[in-house]
Amino acid sequence: MITTINPADGTTLATYQAMTPAQIEQAVVQGSAAAAAWGRTPVENRLEALTRLAGHLRSESARLAALITAEMGKPIKEAEGEIEKSAVTAEYYAANGGAILADEEVPVDGVRAWVAYEPVGLVLAVMPWNFPAWQVFRFAVPTLAAGNGVLLKHSPNVTGFALELEKVFVEAGFGEHLVTTLVVDEPEVPATIEGLIADDRIAAVTLTGSNRAGAAVGAAAGRASKRSVLELGGSDAFVVLADADLEAAAAAAVRARFANSGQSCVCAKRFIVEAAVADEFIDRFVLGVKALAVGDPTDREVAVGPLARDDLRAVLQRQVDESVAAGAVLVAGGGNIDGPGYYFEPTVLTGTAPGMPAFDEETFGPLAAVAVAADVEEAITLANATQYGLGLSIWTGSPSRGVEVARQITSGAAFVNAVVASDPRLPFGGTKRSGYGRELAAVGIREFTNTRTYWVA
Ligand code: NAP
Repeated sequence: MITTINPADGTTLATYQAMTPAQIEQAVVQGSAAAAAWGRTPVENRLEALTRLAGHLRSESARLAALITAEMGKPIKEAEGEIEKSAVTAEYYAANGGAILADEEVPVDGVRAWVAYEPVGLVLAVMPWNFPAWQVFRFAVPTLAAGNGVLLKHSPNVTGFALELEKVFVEAGFGEHLVTTLVVDEPEVPATIEGLIADDRIAAVTLTGSNRAGAAVGAAAGRASKRSVLELGGSDAFVVLADADLEAAAAAAVRARFANSGQSCVCAKRFIVEAAVADEFIDRFVLGVKALAVGDPTDREVAVGPLARDDLRAVLQRQVDESVAAGAVLVAGGGNIDGPGYYFEPTVLTGTAPGMPAFDEETFGPLAAVAVAADVEEAITLANATQYGLGLSIWTGSPSRGVEVARQITSGAAFVNAVVASDPRLPFGGTKRSGYGRELAAVGIREFTNTRTYWVA
């Protein structure tokens, strides 16, 4: 039995019966048949369905966003933004999917040769709660455009939304069973997912989530010789060079860290500032953090809501306490907010360094770790001093210098004078322990296609 809880007040929202093994088997049988039929559907028809999906998402936005906010506490304006971004992505692939999937002729003497991008079948997706809609759509939209089907195992705390997603696709005119939500009880998850990955009817697997879960899924995919994409955690550096516009950098830093109440893989987590401007940057940043409106996520004026689950607060508290014990200085926030709901104060630690949890680990909540670098070389060393490599944001008066510095720091995306964000037109994914494979853009479709060679003499 799965129970969903509203993190804004701790009340129970709903309970769900987990699926039996027989129901999961039926989902695989029906999903395989639906994927096979969809793969034979002309690409134009598949893309038309994406256009309908975009319209349907927009018409249902208020209801879907309210459910996201109720189940995981995202401030309502951000929940609406998540639905809109999903709709924009459906439109992007509706417009560009045909060209991306078109055969590519290759000049070869005396024969006709070409590369085709063909469907692979039924793809298993294991998803996290932090962007209940966006994480699913950014994978599912290109995957469906390519002619595949989807089996979705979502996080238990967003089970209501996961079941709604299944309906959204059917209501938008995709065939029945093309996207199926599996409701799995937490203790059964590792064995169920491993069994599905080993099953020949599952063509490939993608997971967005923690390193722990990613390692389990990646290992199972390896054992089954099966394609996998892993979108894992991050501890993104936000590097402020001495020539940066500090007002703009500090304002961006607040947005970069506290979006989604700090619970985003590409939230900036480590703020690495050149010593010459450290005091001024920290003052401006802390002022911005203290001005954040924290509270009821259904209130349109609120910027930071509760954490999605109570246990996530204990992890943050440990990271704060151990970092302070190791020498970090608490300059804002620092702990739970009293009262109902899983609220944690927007928190800033200065004087952080490698060896402290706030610097070494992913911090998944409203906690910013600031480190001061003597010069740009030390800033590069500190930015690289992490097992993660997802996004990177560099602030400087010279964009070309920003790019030069970015080239010396490992990450899947580098933004200069801008906050890291995903965009359907550009690939998204990690390096190091942030995972492998890419979502979005052309590469995001091709992760789950059979790139097939034709040679016709
Ligand atoms: P999580 O605990 O890893 O859970 C993610 C999903 O994996 C859930 O559906 C979970 O199911 C499942 N799972 C857990 N253990 C598993 C196992 N052994 N085998 C198969 N599936 C397993 O992560 P989360 O707390 O939901 O999400 C936060 C994490 O996701 C952060 O690290 C964040 O950075 C990362 N993330 C990365 C990206 C990216 O694009 N790189 C985007 C968003 C989030 P149960 O919960 O039912 O166990």
